[in-house]
Amino acid sequence: MAIDLKPFEEKINEELALVERELASVGRRNPGNKDDWEAATADEDGSQADPNENADKFEELGINEAILADLETRYRELKAAKERIAEGVYGVCEISGEPIEKERLEANPAARTCLKHTPHRK
Ligand SMILES: [Zn+2]
Repeated sequence: MAIDLKPFEEKINEELALVERELASVGRRNPGNKDDWEAATADEDGSQADPNENADKFEELGINEAILADLETRYRELKAAKERIAEGVYGVCEISGEPIEKERLEANPAARTCLKHTPHRK
């Protein structure tokens, strides 16, 4: 079965751009590794701030870290999907080696497994 990869590649690129924008709003790129992101607060200068304000900042940082972790996971999934396209193995189940259902790829263009081998989430 040969499926047209173009629409999936486009979806992946679109979502990747979106995720990158969201990552940039809650964090910043690690200067040493552009695929790694770290959470950031609105301003980094907390040296002379009063303790209450610092507590707020720590809380904000915690929230950002949680959002960032989710975004980063998605970012890596999308990047991996792009690599699979480049390697010509996109849309193949990692477990069975069978083609992944089109509906499944439409729902999640970064899917690594067919419906049968998709672990249930939550
Ligand atoms: Zn499978």
